[in-house]
Amino acid sequence: RHPHAFAAGSIGPLALPHRIIMGSMHLNFEADPAALAAFYAERAAGGAALIVTGGAAVNREGSGGRTYLVCGEPAFTRAAQAALRAVHDAGGMLALQLFHAGRYAFRETYGLQPLAPSAVWSGYSRALPLALDEEQIGLTLRDFAAAARQARDLGFDAVEIMGSEGYLLNQFASPLTNRRHDAWGGDAARRQAFPLAVLAAVRSAAGRDFPVIFRMSGADLVQGEAPQEEYSALAAALADAGADALNIGIGWHESRLPTVQALVPHGTWLPIASRIRADLRSRGIQVPVIGSNRINSVAQADAAIAAGNVDFVSMARPFLADPRILAKTKAGRSDLVNTCIACNEACIDRSLGTEPVSCLVNPRAGRETVFPAGIPGAVGPPGTPVAVVGAGPAGMQAAATLAASGALVHLFEAEAEIGGQFRLARVVPGKSDFAQTIRYFSSELPRLGVHVHTGVKASANSLAGFSHVVDATGVRPRTVQLPGSGVTVLDYHQAFADPAGLPRRIAVIGGGGIAVDLAHLLLQQGTFTPPEPESGAVRRFSREHLASGPQQPGFREITLLRRGPRIGEGIGPSTRWAVLQALRNSGAVLRTGVSYRELVPEGLLIEGPDGSAELIAADAVVIAAGQVENTVLQRGLTAAGLPHTVIGGAHSAAGLNAALAFAQGLEAGTDI
Ligand code: SF4
Repeated sequence: RHPHAFAAGSIGPLALPHRIIMGSMHLNFEADPAALAAFYAERAAGGAALIVTGGAAVNREGSGGRTYLVCGEPAFTRAAQAALRAVHDAGGMLALQLFHAGRYAFRETYGLQPLAPSAVWSGYSRALPLALDEEQIGLTLRDFAAAARQARDLGFDAVEIMGSEGYLLNQFASPLTNRRHDAWGGDAARRQAFPLAVLAAVRSAAGRDFPVIFRMSGADLVQGEAPQEEYSALAAALADAGADALNIGIGWHESRLPTVQALVPHGTWLPIASRIRADLRSRGIQVPVIGSNRINSVAQADAAIAAGNVDFVSMARPFLADPRILAKTKAGRSDLVNTCIACNEACIDRSLGTEPVSCLVNPRAGRETVFPAGIPGAVGPPGTPVAVVGAGPAGMQAAATLAASGALVHLFEAEAEIGGQFRLARVVPGKSDFAQTIRYFSSELPRLGVHVHTGVKASANSLAGFSHVVDATGVRPRTVQLPGSGVTVLDYHQAFADPAGLPRRIAVIGGGGIAVDLAHLLLQQGTFTPPEPESGAVRRFSREHLASGPQQPGFREITLLRRGPRIGEGIGPSTRWAVLQALRNSGAVLRTGVSYRELVPEGLLIEGPDGSAELIAADAVVIAAGQVENTVLQRGLTAAGLPHTVIGGAHSAAGLNAALAFAQGLEAGTDI
């Protein structure tokens, strides 16, 4: 199975048993050696042969934020030693990513002014950097060299130089951020001089025999980016200068084109890596090319390698979602893989702040020391009968955790299928991967011995024989009373049940995640047009789409209405802008600060922010204005005196999201 992905390969002198690399992720817990070691070790044990660490800043000015480690400092050395020991003991290899944020550094971190090739304002770090002078450039090269030498001395198996995603080396290569007219800028060759000098410094410090991966940008996806030929020229120059592999990154943090969000189809960016690889091969250069971004299964990686698009595939978030993705797939049990759904909610969104990174569908990620796998007897002697009621995210996770710890678990679900609100989400354009979570639990729960009863409405009476009950019965839609009549009114459950049956003009009351999802579904728009693989297409694509966004009008007229000031409240920062942009580009109208007056035969009368009355022409009004706790079972259990724990939406609907629900499921499974 997947013979191309599981074929042996090599990166310079580094022999690897397969072609999948666990890509770099900043975790926000790098300074906790025990947590870091346990996190990496579990993934190495699960088959990740080569793991690339999150970026380690080569100096303080280059740090990406407060939680980044800085090479040469004691905290870095402690964490690196612990991680190396753990990964090597588990049979894996660890590459240190050498990082410098450049103008993406945050001044607040160390009170230092960000440094960059030129003083070009960064909307990402909201900083105007200082242009590096000649001496500072020399010192930065010295710091890269020192970091590489330390990596080798500590026992790292390789280094990866971070030269993409809009960080310092990428800034030097781009005409947008490099406005210099000296040895380090002025034309394409001089803009590429700094990345090449970094490679040379690293190479000479770490030695000819030390594996060096260079992560370079394959497309910056910003207006004013370099022409495609420059990326290929840089790739060729890096290979000539001794890079052992080129890992192709896509997009800057400032790009207004989504790159890793769920609405970007799988494999969208492979043609870019493939083009660079083809250009290299046409010049007779055989350096391995690594593809990345929006690949979340071994099958996709295998297909990309089989097609000759790339030599290796780097996957990052899929290893958060399932540390054993490779071992399970290799054993022919891909049905047991907990698939990354590209929600970004517990990983990228947290990494943008300071909260430790985890995973929405795998809340143990990053907390392996807090929740060791399967604590026997955590809820009593093995075989203790426990009922979990409600098979949404909280209930599925609680049932799995309890069963792993030895309880005899019965999971009751009133609907015909497990999954809870994931059953709604999976039909939303761009969210089809949510079905993978249901598939995962459908296999994993029976494997763990959980007795799953669907189509069964449990009550306090029917649960009398259990030692403990976990109430995960979730939420019900909040109702909004509207005076008047003449237009169809539905709740969001009804709308999701038959979206095709709804009329053309729809007013959606509510602007949270469910309302936004529903609007996408009702518009049935194509969410994203991937770039064409032929030469130059990526540049045309990025220019056109940056100018106006993908233009694909939906066939419905959708108006989203919210009393509050923000549509998409609760959607993570890395995703909210992209989904709202897609909605607007499909013609949806987003209105905030409104109140609802009356239903009339022509639609819905509202009051705008200035108090004036306005008619929203609509054939139907859908209420998606939040949820309230489902308390029926809880009241019954309390009255019957049955020991119980209430989790997820049934516990508190306010502020609930899927990450919290899964996390509460994990905690309930170890804590009752
Ligand atoms: Fe993937 Fe979401 Fe987990 Fe991040 S939080 S690894 S995007 S499933």
